[in-house]
Amino acid sequence: MKRLKPVDVVIVGAGWTGMTMAKELATRTSLNVVVLERGPERKTSEYMAQMDELDFGRRRRMLQNIAEETVTHRHTLRDRAAPVRQHGPFYPGTGTGGAGEHWNAVATRFPADSFVLATHLRERWGAAKLPPNHRIQDWGITYDEIEPYYWKTEQMMGINGKAGNLRGKLIDGGNIFEGSRSHEYPNPPHKRTYAMNLWEKAVRELGYHPYPRPAATLSVSYTNPDKISRPGCAYCDFCNMYGCMIEAKAQPTNTLLPLVRDRKNFELRNHCWVRRVLHRDGKAEGVMYMDQSGEEVEQPASLVVLSSWTMNNTKLLLLSKIGDLYEPLTGKGTLGANLTHQVRAAGGAGRIVFKEVLNGFMGAGGQGLGLDDFNGPNGLPEDGSILRGGTFSGGGGGGSPLSSFGSMPPGEAPRNWGSQWKKAAIQWWDRIGGGGGYSGEHLAYKHNFLDLDPTYTDKWGDPLVRMTIDWTEHEHRQSRFAGEVLVKLTDAMARVAGGKVLPGGGRGRGDGRYRTDRYNSTHVQGGVIMGASPEASVVNTYLQHWRMPNLFVVGASAFPQNSAMHPTVTGVALTYRAADALVERYFKNPGALA
Ligand SMILES: Cc1cc2nc3c(=O)[nH]c(=O)nc-3n(C[C@H](O)[C@H](O)[C@H](O)COP(=O)(O)OP(=O)(O)OC[C@H]3O[C@@H](n4cnc5c(N)ncnc54)[C@H](O)[C@@H]3O)c2cc1C
Repeated sequence: MKRLKPVDVVIVGAGWTGMTMAKELATRTSLNVVVLERGPERKTSEYMAQMDELDFGRRRRMLQNIAEETVTHRHTLRDRAAPVRQHGPFYPGTGTGGAGEHWNAVATRFPADSFVLATHLRERWGAAKLPPNHRIQDWGITYDEIEPYYWKTEQMMGINGKAGNLRGKLIDGGNIFEGSRSHEYPNPPHKRTYAMNLWEKAVRELGYHPYPRPAATLSVSYTNPDKISRPGCAYCDFCNMYGCMIEAKAQPTNTLLPLVRDRKNFELRNHCWVRRVLHRDGKAEGVMYMDQSGEEVEQPASLVVLSSWTMNNTKLLLLSKIGDLYEPLTGKGTLGANLTHQVRAAGGAGRIVFKEVLNGFMGAGGQGLGLDDFNGPNGLPEDGSILRGGTFSGGGGGGSPLSSFGSMPPGEAPRNWGSQWKKAAIQWWDRIGGGGGYSGEHLAYKHNFLDLDPTYTDKWGDPLVRMTIDWTEHEHRQSRFAGEVLVKLTDAMARVAGGKVLPGGGRGRGDGRYRTDRYNSTHVQGGVIMGASPEASVVNTYLQHWRMPNLFVVGASAFPQNSAMHPTVTGVALTYRAADALVERYFKNPGALA
């Protein structure tokens, strides 16, 4: 093994969380910071020729190569897990910027009560009403403590939106269900699509409160507090699964990397696949990785930060034997516990045939409206049969050529062939759309967790991460309830548009078991959860390992359970908070921060 010169800080993974930490530490201290990233370099110039839906959207060029590493899945302890051999329920990123390069940039905060969910649910319903096998936990911090870091993240990314709760004052037109914000968004909301106007009218007629979804695709040209300038979005709609060719979409490569790349105390090493955290006597000593040539390298470091996303943060701790493995049968241990994903709406609410064209070829990542009238505790059945809801969205642009072409009302043409079909496809492709989308909060359960697979290995021979996860009756109820709301929204949208809803679409059908053969969201949480005590969590609220003070583990792996909202802004905000604690306290006096 090659042994390198020691460095002050080694960071594993160059996504949003790793690069946020790197930028904070390298610019606010003189420590030398090395980031190890298993994937390739990425830069804006290479995104110029990327509007190739087949290559990027369908063949998923920017994602992790799952022939080299994937996960295995089983529904219960009794099952044998099988490897997920196609990009399925989530899309892990790789390379500089991680999934933050090809994310869709919906940039939401979590509702205030998410952070004290266990307390909130117990107070509202009584402990007896919670599912018997739940592992719902408070995060150990409150919304008010994280709020300044949300604001810092929003400024860094240039998030656009409209406040619905400004210093406690509710404002119609924004999300009136959000936690209190100290500031209005840095930028005004995106331009509106025709479909957004229709959706707004439809849901307002139903008495709900739509708001512009916050997005990290700039609505106008913007210079952030770090003096990074980026142009407003051109609405080309190649966001989700693509890097932005004009840098309107906030990505680690256009907001954070430029601030550190030329610094003498910063180094980003690509094609370095970390396999172990090295440690002795309760102290991290560095990491072991494979370099591009396949050589084993030891990088000694005084501080180790894992920012390799939910799966690999957990995997690296498991492989390195740091912490107590969670045991689902006894409930002992914490490492691997509280795996959560996101709940989908049941069935299909149906597609709407519009009278007017939608101009769906234009749009921006995150553009659209949100609706939180059923999010968190809002609008749910009074009997407590559903403890948490989810967020709806609608009216966003989007309809890339391959995904939208060929949609048409039934009976217009023989299926998928011939000149009649081509004619009908051209006539209809831009007149068919949905009445909304949904993502629901997923509670934490004892039976959903991560550990190492006993059979399958990655390309280096290390065990894969095994997911044990399934939906419970609670998620089925959430899912059916959301499906019914979506039907209402879709029918209202069709009415307002003077369109009609296509028959079929599986209305009312349940969502079945947890599936690995279709996309859910890349919002997978847990495994290395944070909390107020070492008995209940792996890291403290500064994301510092309880047992190893010079090891920090950042990202959504720390979330004790999921919110329905998108996770990235929360992940970055918590990283800023951890970085503050490192700079202001830890480096002055290394040791436990909590
Ligand atoms: C298509 C898509 C759309 C999305 N849309 C949204 C959205 O609209 N809103 C939202 O909030 N979130 C969205 N997400 C999720 C969002 O991208 C992630 O929450 C965010 O990027 C996570 O940042 P991270 O730094 O924690 O992890 P990542 O971005 O996954 O970065 C981790 C990095 O670590 C590297 N790594 C992993 N293991 C190792 C190892 N052993 N050695 C070295 N390096 C390693 C990886 O290659 C990767 O670059 C989306 C994701 C996808 C894929």
